[in-house]
Amino acid sequence: MDIELSAEDLGFRDEVVSFFAENAHKDGEDYNQWRMDWFAKAKDKGGWDVPKWPTQFGGPGWSPTQHYIWEQETAIHATPWDMPFGLGMLAPIVMNYGNEAQQKRFLPDIRARKVNWCQGYSEPGAGSDLASLRTKAVLSEDGTYYTVTGTKIWTTMAHIADWIFCLTRTDDSGRKQEGITFLLFPMNQDGIEVTPIITLGGAHSVNTVHITDVKVPVENRIGEEGKGWTYAKGLLQHERTGLAGVSRSLVALESLKDQARTIARGNSTLMDEPAFKAKVADLEVDLMALEFTELRSLASASAGAAPGPESSIMKLKGTEIQQRIQKLTVEAGGLYSAAWGATSVGPSFARAGMGGYLASRGYTIYGGASEVQKDVIAKNVLGLKKSTSVQTSKENGRNSS
Ligand SMILES: Cc1cc2nc3c(=O)[nH]c(=O)nc-3n(C[C@H](O)[C@H](O)[C@H](O)COP(=O)(O)OP(=O)(O)OC[C@H]3O[C@@H](n4cnc5c(N)ncnc54)[C@H](O)[C@@H]3O)c2cc1C
Repeated sequence: MDIELSAEDLGFRDEVVSFFAENAHKDGEDYNQWRMDWFAKAKDKGGWDVPKWPTQFGGPGWSPTQHYIWEQETAIHATPWDMPFGLGMLAPIVMNYGNEAQQKRFLPDIRARKVNWCQGYSEPGAGSDLASLRTKAVLSEDGTYYTVTGTKIWTTMAHIADWIFCLTRTDDSGRKQEGITFLLFPMNQDGIEVTPIITLGGAHSVNTVHITDVKVPVENRIGEEGKGWTYAKGLLQHERTGLAGVSRSLVALESLKDQARTIARGNSTLMDEPAFKAKVADLEVDLMALEFTELRSLASASAGAAPGPESSIMKLKGTEIQQRIQKLTVEAGGLYSAAWGATSVGPSFARAGMGGYLASRGYTIYGGASEVQKDVIAKNVLGLKKSTSVQTSKENGRNSS
C-alpha cells in the first residue's frame, strides 16, 4: 500500500532506519547486553522503547503515520525480542486501573524489560467461556492477603516468567462476570508448579500452572475486588490488536514471493504459475484491506481512544492471513516441506516452513478463537441481534467487549 508521506514523515522514517542501522546486533556481541542497551538507547530517543504508551507514562506521542512507519520498519529490521504480556497487555491495565503506588512499582520494571510477565486467564474448562474460571482467592480475616488455589492452562512463557497477572474468583454467588478479582504475584515461590505442554510444532511455549495456597498481599490487587472482569476485557482488546501482525505478514509474503522465484517450473518459476500467483494476489488484496483497518485503528488510538471492537477484525483477519502465508509456504516447498527438521534436504525455507505452519494453527485460537471474534463483530460492529441459543456463552466469554 502506498501512503503519501509528508517530508516530516519521510524524515522520521530515515531517523528510524538510521537508529536500527547504528544499533544493529554485531557478530560476537552478547545478545542480552545488546538487547538491554538497545532499549535504553530507544528510551533516550524519547520513548521509542514504549511506542504505544501514552506520553503521560513516557511514550513518544507519535501520529498514526509514525506508528505505521515504526511497525513497517520493525518488521523489516532485526530488533530485540520482546514479550507482549507486560508491555502491551498488563501495562495499559496498570495505567488505567492501578493506583499510583502500583504504577510506580510495576511500570518502570516492565519498561526496562527487567521483569517477564505471563497471562493467567485460561483454565481447564474456562477458555472462550472465560467467566467460568474457578481459581479461588480467599481474603484473610484481617483483610491483608488472599490465598490463591487453582490451575491455569496454556500459559505462554510461564516457564520463564517472573510474575503472573491472574484472574481469580473471590465470589461465586452472583453472575459469573461478578466476583472475579485481578491479582499480580511472583512465579518463583512455594505453591507454584509449572509443567510444560509441547505443542503440535514440537515447541515448548505453553504450560500448565498449578497454584496451591499462594499468599498474595492485597496491595497486589488491581482495582476493586470483584471487578476484575471489567479490567480483563480491556486487556483482551489490547491483546487482539497486537496479534494481527500486518507488517510481519507483508514482509513474510514478499519473502515467499522471492522464494517462489527460486523454484523452477519448466522454463519459468513457481511464481509464474497462474494458480500460485492467484493465491498470492488474494493474500495481497486481503492484506491491503487489513492495512487500512489498522491505520483507522492507529488513528483512533493516537487520538487517545482505547481499542474497540475493530480489534476483533484485526485479530480475525490478521491471524487468518498469517496462517494462509504459512500454508502457501508449505505448498511452495512441495515435498521438501515434509523433510521438516532435516538439515540438508531441499531449500532451507521449505524445511522451516512446516514448523511455522504447525505452530500457526494456534494463532486463530489464542487471544480468543476466531468463532468468538466473529460473534463480537456480528454484535458490536455489524449490530446484528443475538440469537437466544448463544446469548449465555457470549456474555460470559472472551467475546464480551
Ligand atoms: C498457543 C496458545 C497460547 C495461549 N496462551 C495463553 C496465555 O498465555 N494465557 C491464557 O490465559 N490463555 C492462553 N491460551 C488459551 C486461549 O486463550 C484459549 O485456548 C482460547 O481462548 C480457547 O479456549 P479453549 O482452548 O478452552 O477452547 P474452547 O473455549 O473449549 O473452544 C473450543 C472450540 O469451540 C468454539 N467455541 C467456543 N465458544 C464458542 C461460541 N460462543 N461460539 C462459537 N464457537 C465457540 C471455539 O471457537 C473452539 O473452536 C493460549 C492458547 C494457545 C493455543
